[in-house]
Amino acid sequence: MGKDPLALLGTAFSCSCGKTHRIRTKRILVGKGVIAHMPKVLRELGFCGKALVLFDDATYEAAGKAVCDLLSRNGFAVIPGLLQKQERFPFLEPDEEARSQVGEFLFHRPDFLVAVGSGVINDLTKFIAHRTGLPYAAVATAPSMDGYVSPGAPMLVGGYKVTYDATPPVALFADIEILCAAPLSLIQAGFADLVGKITANADWTIRRVLFGEDFCDVLWEHTASFLRALSAHAEGIQQRDEQAITVLTQALIQSGLGMEMIGDSRPASGGEHLIAHHLEMMALHRGIHPSFHGLRVGAATCIVWNLFQRFLTEELPQGGRLKSTVDQETLKVHFGPLFPFIEKPAQKKLNILWPEIDFSTLKQAVEEKIALLNPLRLLRRAGIPTSFEALGFPPTMVREACLFARFLRDRVTLLDLLDHLGVLQEFLNAALSE
Ligand SMILES: [Zn+2]
Ligand SMILES: [Zn+2]
Repeated sequence: MGKDPLALLGTAFSCSCGKTHRIRTKRILVGKGVIAHMPKVLRELGFCGKALVLFDDATYEAAGKAVCDLLSRNGFAVIPGLLQKQERFPFLEPDEEARSQVGEFLFHRPDFLVAVGSGVINDLTKFIAHRTGLPYAAVATAPSMDGYVSPGAPMLVGGYKVTYDATPPVALFADIEILCAAPLSLIQAGFADLVGKITANADWTIRRVLFGEDFCDVLWEHTASFLRALSAHAEGIQQRDEQAITVLTQALIQSGLGMEMIGDSRPASGGEHLIAHHLEMMALHRGIHPSFHGLRVGAATCIVWNLFQRFLTEELPQGGRLKSTVDQETLKVHFGPLFPFIEKPAQKKLNILWPEIDFSTLKQAVEEKIALLNPLRLLRRAGIPTSFEALGFPPTMVREACLFARFLRDRVTLLDLLDHLGVLQEFLNAALSE
């Protein structure tokens, strides 16, 4: 690979990293008015018959109504699928209730699915499409996250976020006119989700250097270039500048394609995402407004970036701590009813076999990622909150999340390395008091 991933849709190709990557999504249309091409493009891709179009109240107004009209005027039968949120949550969540709503619509025997929405509606559709084997197309209504063409679908199961394997959409329609009209906080959330790629790739680099995990340098080059392009348009985000929204949308799609190429979320999700996920679960559990995924990721990125800065400048002892600061009992108390979900990754985390660390090699590799852009400055330029307090999370909850989030997945991040070196609490105290 050397070419733009957008030029490699629907193909498998060998990359100079030694791996073969594949992209299952066949068509991606980004631009003003692209929605009008939907019937023709769907037909070219072999879609026909009955479409189950999934939306909620807001996305029906944004694009759902137009999509239903367009499809029915052009020879498709349309089953309108209005999804309703649960009263106890501020948003529609990808939970048991939402999945059963989609299940009801499936009784109409659709030939394909259309997701009209952003994060949750796309995740639900992707999950159901994968389970039923039905093809699906996505219509983006907000540039709010990078999961449109990614291979995973995060679902809430018993109050816990589990990411399931899923098949990405065959086609994605990202109409800039619709995306420019999205709520500003969703646009900012998309920007902030991308800022998290800096620390996500630094975490991935830690695993590459210490544990020999596969890493794709070509993909990193693409990530760095879309982040630079995004930085050049940061001020335009608040003005909903058409060019800025286009660059943001393209960057979100590229980030999603990166996950699809690697086969999981490694290029897009590190410690910052773990903290954001953990706070979301805690918020839903305690009845606190969870804010948006991307905004949580942005605030968490500022904390993790701060930890990385300190890690890079501080002389650190090789030895590591003698005894773990956390044991199974502490985890049981902290996670409560969610403990069974994290038991497996937590076991792995408690038993990591750390190699001898060559700090100069590790720091050099990590710095290349961390020095790309300053996330705090980037977020500020786009008018986005840089702290969890500004998003309404109490400081004690944030501290707890930073300490325990690393047990949610078995993926090693800086949070684990700092704990291994015996400095996590100390570094966090400083980072959180700034
Ligand atoms: Zn994300
Ligand atoms: Zn590669």
